[in-house]
Formats: sequence, structure tokens, C-alpha cells
Amino acid sequence: MTYLAELKQNGDFLTLTRNNEFTLEPVSFTLNNGTLVEVLDTGVIQFTPVGETTKDIVLSSAVHGNETAPIEICDELIQHIITGKLTLAQRVLFIFGNPKSINIGQRFVDENLNRLFNGAHNQETDNPEKVRAQKLEGYVRAFFEKGGSERYRCHYDLHTAIRGSKNEKFAVYPFLHGKPWKKSQLQFLLSCGVNTVLMMRSAATTFSYFSSYQFGADAFTIELGQVKPFGENNMASFAKTKETLKALISQKNVEYKEFNADEFELFMVHRTINRTQPEFSFPFSDSAVNFTGFAKGELLATDGDQQYFAEVDGEAIIFPNANVALGQRALLTVVPLEVDENFI
Ligand SMILES: [Zn+2]
Repeated sequence: MTYLAELKQNGDFLTLTRNNEFTLEPVSFTLNNGTLVEVLDTGVIQFTPVGETTKDIVLSSAVHGNETAPIEICDELIQHIITGKLTLAQRVLFIFGNPKSINIGQRFVDENLNRLFNGAHNQETDNPEKVRAQKLEGYVRAFFEKGGSERYRCHYDLHTAIRGSKNEKFAVYPFLHGKPWKKSQLQFLLSCGVNTVLMMRSAATTFSYFSSYQFGADAFTIELGQVKPFGENNMASFAKTKETLKALISQKNVEYKEFNADEFELFMVHRTINRTQPEFSFPFSDSAVNFTGFAKGELLATDGDQQYFAEVDGEAIIFPNANVALGQRALLTVVPLEVDENFI
């Protein structure tokens, strides 16, 4: 195995992945501390420490290839594990989702990978992203099933947003089909520096929804700030996230501070506004940031002859895009959510 000696020595799995955009010969080896390292595919590496573990943790990045900060965080964690600087206390599966899109510095190659999970890849026309989504689902499934259903499962899918956000870091809590939201997960997110959480109200084809729905994992899409090229990220703004992830994978149990609802801004999806007419516009500028709130009655969008007004005070905009194809979502709106009995 030609790449093995180098990987063992420098732990640089990211470069190895970038040099092999579509496939990488599987290989496994054991670290001096007994941890089993299994390269399953390009961008997919699994670690099993010796001794008893209780958690099966999936950390994914580069599902969108140009979102570099999370890639840099995971790259460093992987290097520290392989070179022995960081000793694991839990099983961990790292995934760099879309290696070719990292290399071309684009969100995706042919199709948005984060719309292809939970069966959405099962369509006639094949493209590399559909093939990849299917493979990634298989690795996650095998990882969780090998651990067994009694163990604790989580999957944090790490991203950075295209657009600025009033709340720089935020997380998307996938639809739980009526199950309660967990305060302990909100505390984990807060420890990562994320105090804004958006609760979804319907099934999705995202990677985090897949792990949440199929395996009961605590799963989130976590947006850690704005997209920047490699090397241009202000890594200080990701320090809390990195330390929290490090603690999660290297400690038996992590204690987070006590839950206090005042420390969070929670939102629930309110509605989707689709563009149905060629004449479509927003009253706010293109640079309006995510989570900008509006007073009841303020104009949100104009679609041909139809005008949309804020229906409740604080209705806020997410991911506005006036240039989508006709029939597509131009705007998602959210409303503030209070902590109540639906949280445990
Ligand atoms: Zn993304």
C-alpha cells in the first residue's frame, strides 16, 4: 500500500482525499495507543479506540466543498488522532463529503449533495454526487449498526453559510416527527458557540435528517459562519467548536453547563415562499442577512401581482434568493420559538 507509510507518519488524510477524488483503496492499521484506523474510501476514515466506549460519533464536513473552515477543523482532529496527540475515548467516523468539489472550490460539482440523502439518490440519471450520497449512507449505516442500537449516536454535519447571518453560527435541528427536542443537545451547540437553532417541521433529504430519522442519532446541520477560501478563515472564531468536538471524542463523559433558555435564540420554520412569476422581488437588499426579523404587516416579497407580508411579529428571513427557477423556493421564513414541554 503506497500511501500507508505517509498517512501513518503525518496523518494528512485530507491531502490524500484531495489527491483521490473518487476512490481510495481501503486500508487499516493500528496506532501505538491501540486505536484501530480504517480508511473506508476517499474522505471516509473510521477510528475505534481500545477499551470500552459508549458513543458512536459521525463528524462530516465538505458536503459542500467550498465550506473550508469545518474541513480545516476535521483535518486537524484527524491529524492529531493519527499522530497520537489526541487519544480517543469514543468511536468516530469522519467524512469529507465531496472531495472533487473541495478541489474545484465549489459548493458542488453537478448537484447539491445535501439534497440527495434519505433515498433521494435513487433516481435514474447517475452523477458522481448521487453515487457518493449512496456510498456515504452505507458507511454511516455500517458504522452505527456495528456499534449497535443500545449505544449513544450522534452526527454533526459541519457547514459554513453562503450568506452572512445576524447570528453568525446556527444549527438546523431536523424534523423529529413529534419526538421532543433535547436541551442537552442545545447545551452541546452552545458550547460550540452556536446559540441559534432552527427547528424543521418536515422530512428532508439532508445528511443530518438521514442520521436522525434512520438511526435515531442526535443530528444537526451546523453552520459555523461565512464561506471563505482555505487559509482565510479566522480560526479563532472556530476555537470553541474545535475544543467542544475534541472533548466529545476524547472524553468518556462531557459535562455542559446548566440549560438556560435565555442564552438561546430558537426558531421554528413558518413558511416557504416560492417564486412563481418572472417578476419576483424582495424589498430588502441582496445583502440582507439570515434571521433579519420583520414586524407584522411588513412586506417580505412580491411575486408578480401577489405580495407577501409578515404574518407575525418577528417573522424572519432565511436563505432569500430571488433568482431561483420558477416554482422553486425563494425564501424560507421562521418565527421565534419558546422553550416549553416539547423540550426535555
Ligand atoms: Zn453547506
